[in-house]
Amino acid sequence: MAFEKENLVQDAIKLGFSHAGLARIETLKPMIEVRDMCAVDKCHAYDRTWTCPPGCGTIEECAERMKKYDWGILVQTTAELEDSMDYEGMMEGQERQKENSIAFLKELREIYADVLPLCSAGCDLCKECTYPEKPCRFPDKALSAMEGYGLLVSQVCQDNDLKYYYGPNTVTYTALFLIKES
Ligand code: SF4
Repeated sequence: MAFEKENLVQDAIKLGFSHAGLARIETLKPMIEVRDMCAVDKCHAYDRTWTCPPGCGTIEECAERMKKYDWGILVQTTAELEDSMDYEGMMEGQERQKENSIAFLKELREIYADVLPLCSAGCDLCKECTYPEKPCRFPDKALSAMEGYGLLVSQVCQDNDLKYYYGPNTVTYTALFLIKES
């Protein structure tokens, strides 16, 4: 099975991610401080979708949900920027990360019945989210954010031997896919 996992890391790179690596479930340590940052609503997703707080559940519920998975795979897109103000370059990198994450989730779901995608931003698959009046339209495709589950991305990367920062004038977007073997 370890061989298959390493193959998936290679598949992620072939798909277009800049970096990828395996993640251990015990390295996932939800922090209330991270969730508190969601509530500041810098990304304009708080209380707007089923996949971000509070729609994705309490931090305790998120922690319990993650525990049922066996292992994870971290995938990253690093965008090279003209300078630290290169907003267009940042948005391009974010879009590339999202497109590759959607494609990778499809590939993983062809192998594993249960995959939890924790991406770089909240779900924006629908023009208007059904939250909170009606259930999610596409629960199999909806993308949660790592921060929404209380995860500090830099710590998760570090504890799984993956870099988080790739040098000046770069920005890196990270997603985590949790896998249940059976
Ligand atoms: S798939 Fe649509 S309904 Fe479901 S969380 Fe995403 S935006 Fe909302």
